Amino acid sequence: MGIDIKAPLIDYLKDPIIVTSRDGTVVEVNDSLLKLIDASKDKVIGKDCREIEPLDTLCNIITDTALRRVKQKQRITYRNITFEASVSPVVVEDDLVHILIVFTDISAFVNLEAEFLRKNRALIITNTLSSAFISSENMDFVFSDLMEKALLISHLGIGWIMLRQKGGYAIKGSTGLSNGLRKNVEGGRLNSLVDNALASGAPLQVLESEETAKIPELKDEGVTFLALIPLRVGNEVLGCLALANRLETAFDFDMASLLSLIGNTLSMIADKIKLFQKTQRLAITDGLTGLYNVRHFYAELDKEIARARRYSTPFSLALFDIDDFKLINDTFGHQAGDEVLCDVSSKILHASRESDIVARYGGEEFICILPSTAKDEAYKHACRVKAAVDKKRYLGPDSVKLTISGGVASFPEDAEDAKALLYAADMAMYAAKASGKKTVQCYTR
Ligand code: GH3
Ligand code: MG
Ligand code: MG
Repeated sequence: MGIDIKAPLIDYLKDPIIVTSRDGTVVEVNDSLLKLIDASKDKVIGKDCREIEPLDTLCNIITDTALRRVKQKQRITYRNITFEASVSPVVVEDDLVHILIVFTDISAFVNLEAEFLRKNRALIITNTLSSAFISSENMDFVFSDLMEKALLISHLGIGWIMLRQKGGYAIKGSTGLSNGLRKNVEGGRLNSLVDNALASGAPLQVLESEETAKIPELKDEGVTFLALIPLRVGNEVLGCLALANRLETAFDFDMASLLSLIGNTLSMIADKIKLFQKTQRLAITDGLTGLYNVRHFYAELDKEIARARRYSTPFSLALFDIDDFKLINDTFGHQAGDEVLCDVSSKILHASRESDIVARYGGEEFICILPSTAKDEAYKHACRVKAAVDKKRYLGPDSVKLTISGGVASFPEDAEDAKALLYAADMAMYAAKASGKKTVQCYTR
């Protein structure tokens, strides 16, 4: 019993073909296969597959096919060509007589497949990172979320974002940093490294272990890989994405394209965040003075009342009005008046505390929410603000002297809701004006 394989017949087939016995001994091959492995027929026939490259990689599948008698496929790469090896049992009258292996060149398909995977990966990355931005209600958390996702995608352990701001960088979304490294990054110890990466204009700068070993801040942390990826939109450099690892990290073409893809996506998102924050800022800012606008003031006042009720703490309002401001306009013109309004605003702002909400309440009126501040403290604070404004001369050196009047009212002492509290502050202001201006008055019932 047996099957007669006519060698000349399989020689006509373009795909490399090999026939083995059930134990993997070569029984027949065609010319195509001999050409592929660059061998003569007599060197191959009768040999064990294990001794012939690339058939050696098929031993397990040959044994399995002989056992289970089902056709199987395996991908192999040989001399830069990717083949699909179809391994089929040849069964005659219930007897397994041979194993037939046909090699099909699938390189073109594999390239297409790789291209598809690359595109798909790009989509997944863009989608994953964008989802962090889209689903975030709070922009403070979006960078941490983005960083976690960037690390997940890149299989790296450490990352942070450095956004350019006046005089340096703001650190955002730092993940996986030890306290020591965080301090160094926040303290600007790696700024010159980042400055150089941004100045180079390169899309990516990578430091592998030999280079990280020369930088104490990285060496002490056991960082063996650092990628600095500039975040750019058009000609504008927004900052830099830093991704690092303590484990050995292979940096190859695939990694480089992955990192720049993450960088590109993050650049777009960082730009959108910047725009979003600018719009948010504009919506709550007075266009002339840069102080909060009255709409934001009302919203903050409601919040402050709710907070003060919940924690049973007092807070105060200080209302300010420039004395005889009309005179400035009438004497120097409206534009000069605008300049004075800006100068007075910045004086009030600087004389206030970080936690105070300072808003432009009307034309030449300003109002401050002073959280957790009872009336006597609020009065002192309003006097300090008034003194700061009064001290300055406006419209050039020594030209105009200005004064302001102030009215103070406190929650819950003077009023128990927003409207009544504003009325009380207004009344105190009215009293200050009535008493000859240039003073601060507290509301009394
Ligand atoms: P008082 O001491 O009683 O507060 O007198 P005043 O002149 O400061 O107050 P009044 O309410 O009579 O005038 C306020 C002036 O502020 C009138 C208005 O033209 C001017 N003003 C309001 N908004 C602006 C602004 O945006 N720019 C300029 N230049 N002037 C403004
Ligand atoms: Mg006024
Ligand atoms: Mg006035």
